[in-house]
Amino acid sequence: MASTILVVEDEPAIAELVAVNLSFAGHKVLRATDTLAADLMIRAELPDLVLLDWMLPGASGIQYARRLRADERTAAIPIIMLTARSEEGDKVEGLDSGADDYVTKPFSPKELLARIKAVLRRRAPQLTDDSVEIAGLRLDPQTHRVLGGGEALELGPTEFRLLHFFMTHPERVHSRSQLLDHVWGDHVFVEERTVDVHIRRLRQALISSGHDRHVETVRGSGYRFTAQPSGFPA
Ligand code: CA
Repeated sequence: MASTILVVEDEPAIAELVAVNLSFAGHKVLRATDTLAADLMIRAELPDLVLLDWMLPGASGIQYARRLRADERTAAIPIIMLTARSEEGDKVEGLDSGADDYVTKPFSPKELLARIKAVLRRRAPQLTDDSVEIAGLRLDPQTHRVLGGGEALELGPTEFRLLHFFMTHPERVHSRSQLLDHVWGDHVFVEERTVDVHIRRLRQALISSGHDRHVETVRGSGYRFTAQPSGFPA
């Protein structure tokens, strides 16, 4: 699945090489040459991942990573540090600042893409195109198909994204506003009851295979996708 990746890098040749390869791999690329420009881009659109150069004019990549982690809006964005340094101590400092991974220059585009995929798989599995299967329900992002007990189910695009998010984050309760952020995207102004409408449609689409029971309402909190629904009729 295409992810939006912000590349913060002041060396034009490296920024260009990275951007070309990310675009080629199907990602949307945003570029900034310093942290001020990065802030402007993030204010306009929250990226799915940040590739952050260590040595930047003005604030360093390390300082910037700490700032992203400290801000509630950006705290969860996966960060990969790009750096010419390869000392063990530097690596520890990079990871301590909140970076998820660390790539040492010069790196091959193939290695970088593999690291990005690994970090996204760990931190934001709904952004990868790995298929997921829970309790006989199978969702395949590559073919955009959902199978319930082997039978094809028809889902609208929003219901598909909602189910993908649920299945990659099962057993956890998600509030309506969290679902809006993750499924609709932040900076999208949708009323919270829109979530209820799409939950209803999602359950409707899952009824024929009996998987509607796996989408549970948690009173006063939100919704949860569970492998073992508790709501059996008495
Ligand atoms: Ca640099």
